[in-house]
Amino acid sequence: MNWYPSTGTINFQGKEASSLKEEIEKLLNAISGINGSTPIPACQESQIPIENLAKPSIEQLSEPMLSLEEKELLDNKYANSELIIGLVAAVGTDLEHVKRVISERLPAFGYECNEIRVSRDIIKEYGHVSETGNQFERITAYMEEGNNLRKKAGDNSILALGVAAKINKLRNKSNEKPLPFNKRAFIINSIKHPEEVHRLRQIYSNGFFLIGVYADEKRRFNFLTENLSIENSHASNLISRDADESKKNGQHTRDAFHLSDFFVHYDGNADKFQNDIWRILDLIFGKPFVTPTFDEFAMFMAFSASLRSADLSRQVGAVIAKDNNIVSTGANDVPKSGGGLYWSEYNQEGTKITDVEDGRDYKRGEDSNAVEKQKIIDNILKCIPDELPDELTSQFKENLKNSRIKDITEYGRVVHAEMESILACARNNISTVKTHLYCTTFPCHNCAKHIISAGISRVIYVEPYPKSKALEFHSDSISIDKLQKLNVIFEPFVGVGPRAFFNLFSMNLGSGYTLNRKTNEGIAVEWQQSDGRLRMQMLPSSYLEREKLAANLLLEQLHLT
Ligand SMILES: [Zn+2]
Repeated sequence: MNWYPSTGTINFQGKEASSLKEEIEKLLNAISGINGSTPIPACQESQIPIENLAKPSIEQLSEPMLSLEEKELLDNKYANSELIIGLVAAVGTDLEHVKRVISERLPAFGYECNEIRVSRDIIKEYGHVSETGNQFERITAYMEEGNNLRKKAGDNSILALGVAAKINKLRNKSNEKPLPFNKRAFIINSIKHPEEVHRLRQIYSNGFFLIGVYADEKRRFNFLTENLSIENSHASNLISRDADESKKNGQHTRDAFHLSDFFVHYDGNADKFQNDIWRILDLIFGKPFVTPTFDEFAMFMAFSASLRSADLSRQVGAVIAKDNNIVSTGANDVPKSGGGLYWSEYNQEGTKITDVEDGRDYKRGEDSNAVEKQKIIDNILKCIPDELPDELTSQFKENLKNSRIKDITEYGRVVHAEMESILACARNNISTVKTHLYCTTFPCHNCAKHIISAGISRVIYVEPYPKSKALEFHSDSISIDKLQKLNVIFEPFVGVGPRAFFNLFSMNLGSGYTLNRKTNEGIAVEWQQSDGRLRMQMLPSSYLEREKLAANLLLEQLHLT
């Protein structure tokens, strides 16, 4: 049988046309919309030429396609969205306590809560871990098996796929299709690799928030040795292993931590900690009167400064503040004569925004630091005696490549963000004495000496930079203990991170619904937790499909299909 969409007729080959012909023609024409009939929306790609399709009205298109949730979302009325909260913290942080504070608060917003414990629900489910009463052996066994699963799958986000599969499994189904939960939060305890964060953001997008819980090393060490009765040497071993294993498939908690939306400090002050968590939940649920602290604002500005960088490897930003005023900004980029860094600018004809030829690194086509490092390596390799066996030579080359030569930064043409923010003050006659420096990354030792010399009294950072020798070289001048008032205090950032800042603090420019702070009569609205509605709602159809795909991918990667 042939169907001719252009005329809307069919032709039975080798057979007499029957009354069936008319019926089928009618049906096909109804599907395609020919002759003005209402088209039936189809998911599959159509072969029908566009000009033959009748144009449906918006109402006709939207009515059968939108679910109730979707219509509510478009009308800004949808209020049942799920919430996925990931926790990330270094080993030895009492995440049980953190989880309890969150889960006990969620019912105030009408939300129920499920915990997905990655060790018990994912690693044990898909791997092999023998239980033991010895806490050191237990934690080590779970770390090992987590690494094994990443390696086996060839995917460092495998445990996040496991989380999605677990949530998918908990769902009620209708005709095999998973259904969304109403007002349900999942707490993922806990994240250990940056690729897990990327994967969960990919699946749950705006519905996923990551909370980084910071506890200083002494507190974590005490928790491991006193609360979990782990020997001192074993506790130290766990702490360094957890932060950053050399293996790619290993845990990289430190790299996952700075991807957080919120940073909280677990310092033993229970009331403060609880209030910090409650404030985050209020913000997520749209309380219109949560506004940023100066630290949050300044860090957002530092992040914003980083975005102007054209550096080939990373974007770093910094701002200097004096008496709660931003007095300068800096980013890592190439300096230009006359002062400051290169900007993209209109060309001389004023017709096109462009960059100066031969200015920034990308215009030169190379990172001078990487090129010089390679020259050093080549130079050393020339010293290898010719008579050395090939096997030893290649081993030596490999070792050299992985040596600390790779940490050298001095050949870069870019001015670091921290230094640029200091220089910006110098260019504008602003004293840097007793100022605060906010930087998106922990300062390198080169910047550290300039920070000390500039008289800056406090440095706040988000991303750690383990290669920095700042604390070691300048232990006489830099302290992480706030009580050492004569020293420059280096402290991790606490509060709403730059990632969440725009979406949650803006009344109407973020991804969520518009906030109202007053009634039509001009009276400030009264807001209670029970009025709370997630600022960013997830459209059920958007993530259920991706979650199912993640569950299938997990089975495939672990060869369980
Ligand atoms: Zn630096």
